Amino acid sequence: MALNLKKLREVPGRIFSIHEVYPALSVAPEHSFELRGRVSVSGQAVHRDRAVFLDLRIQATAVQKCSRCLADVISPLDWEERLEFQPEESGGLLEQEAFTYSLEDTELSLQPYIVGLIGGVLEPKPLCRPDCKGLCPVCGQDLNVGECACGARHEGDPRLRVLKELLK
Ligand SMILES: [Zn+2]
Ligand SMILES: [Zn+2]
Repeated sequence: MALNLKKLREVPGRIFSIHEVYPALSVAPEHSFELRGRVSVSGQAVHRDRAVFLDLRIQATAVQKCSRCLADVISPLDWEERLEFQPEESGGLLEQEAFTYSLEDTELSLQPYIVGLIGGVLEPKPLCRPDCKGLCPVCGQDLNVGECACGARHEGDPRLRVLKELLK
């Protein structure tokens, strides 16, 4: 599914509605999240002053790994995003947030942008819970489940906390 750029540009100022559902979007490995289930994108598109403006509502469920213990962190997302696409040939400095489209294109596919937008609203270092104790750096034991037997001291170790307070 893609926006019909030709139609949009033929009738400047006319509002076209968008409703797209992606049953499954694949996420490149350089992104540190996955998507669970479908992604829904709805909203409006308008062509004005040679630019294409999109008002989108994006609904998706992202799965990340807890930055301390690697458990799944599931985030249901539902937010609104305003995008601006300027023609490539516009020259000069573009608004910082603007994307570009080619004047030769008849279609504008939103799909390549969706994963990046989702990545932009996710917590870079998610936690499964605010007080996640993480893994023992020595033996890998999940400290949320219980203390490990390897004898290593941990971040959450009360003795270490006292020491940290003293060093402040
Ligand atoms: Zn965790
Ligand atoms: Zn340990």
